[in-house]
Amino acid sequence: MSLIVMKFGGSSVANTEKIFNAARIAAKAYDEGNEVVMVVSAQGDTTDDLIEMAGKIDDNPSKREMDMLLTTGEQISCSLMAMALHKLGYKSISMTGWQAGFLTDSHYSSARIRRIDTERIRTELDEKNIVVVAGFQGINRSDDLTTLGRGGSDTSAVALAAALNADMCRIYTDVEGVFTADPRKVKGAVKLDEISFDEMLELASLGAQVLQNRSVELAKKYNVNIEVRSSLTDNPGTVVREVTKMEGMLIKGVTKDTAIVSMSILGVPDEPGIAFAIFSRLAKCGINVDIILQSEGNDGTQDITFTIPKSDLAQAQQVLADGKDAIKSKEIKLYDNVAKVSIVGAGMASNSGVASRIFGALFEAGVNIMMISTSEIKISVLINANDADRAVAAIHDEFIK
Ligand code: ADP
Ligand code: ASP
Ligand code: MG
Repeated sequence: MSLIVMKFGGSSVANTEKIFNAARIAAKAYDEGNEVVMVVSAQGDTTDDLIEMAGKIDDNPSKREMDMLLTTGEQISCSLMAMALHKLGYKSISMTGWQAGFLTDSHYSSARIRRIDTERIRTELDEKNIVVVAGFQGINRSDDLTTLGRGGSDTSAVALAAALNADMCRIYTDVEGVFTADPRKVKGAVKLDEISFDEMLELASLGAQVLQNRSVELAKKYNVNIEVRSSLTDNPGTVVREVTKMEGMLIKGVTKDTAIVSMSILGVPDEPGIAFAIFSRLAKCGINVDIILQSEGNDGTQDITFTIPKSDLAQAQQVLADGKDAIKSKEIKLYDNVAKVSIVGAGMASNSGVASRIFGALFEAGVNIMMISTSEIKISVLINANDADRAVAAIHDEFIK
């Protein structure tokens, strides 16, 4: 007997037919003699719809109340799923995140899981139930509801698999696995049989929404192997694990992120402490800075350019304005129509010439590069957002035949 955690994303529970389809997948695993815990997302676009509803009341609603609102989406799908299992003749019980023991910190809208008390789930499994847990949510020390950030049901599932010491964690979604690029956008994208935690973490962090990056972080930390697969076909998916084949593909994926902006701090004096003045202020607010470039400006001054998430822009502008005496810049420029296109693959570390092939592909596609950043297993370029899809396709064509 194995314990299987299976997560179904929004599109896999979007309507009655899909709920029954997911329920049958769980029932089949149960019939094969396994213990089954399902984690479900809100149906279809429910979370977006709830956010829009809140926006009609207040364009800057209380974060606590937002989480109170958003948790309802998953509560609907988990109860419907348990009902579907009952209808199919199976014992099942649904649980909210807090009933399932998810204790989090108090960062509303992006709470981190501190602990999962799995006692109740274990009792229900012992009672021969298929347990259905609402993803994306937990409870903080003050008994207030919290959510784990967009796409957070992936993280709920992996965390639960770790806490229950499950034998398998399957993520069911609307594509057949992890592809070399978004299969809905890039013709010729290829499904990967497997990908390492590190590569998947980069892909997820750089824009491939198929897994929430925090779920991959947890999977790596607790060594939980994940299989990403389709809820609509029976084909094997992509396994995410620590070690993959020794000599695998050079490149695992190409992805884009358009939810970023680039800021340039122009004309700062060429003296110690300026970069610290800028980045310590951003760090204090928890703003994640990505590509950073320092270049020579006019008359012996320096320009410092970096990218941050679009959602942090207002706060970044505020703290930089507050710190203007220490930063001593002449002007701050904002570029908000930019995209970061990245290519990921552990094979890059030992292969020269990857960067030049990327630049060649972009040159042939007529795409101008504004900034470049590299690490052992990825190369990112910052470009005009209007060129993003073309750039992804050009780089993908160059490497994936
Ligand atoms: P779910 O609702 O099941 O959580 P998501 O919409 O969050 O599903 O993630 C699945 C989507 O991720 C796919 O429909 C696909 O368009 C997108 N995606 C982006 N990049 C990739 C990739 N490299 N491989 C697979 N899917 C990707
Ligand atoms: N329903 C949440 C969202 O749309 C969580 C999830 O689907 O994973 O972001
Ligand atoms: Mg998702």
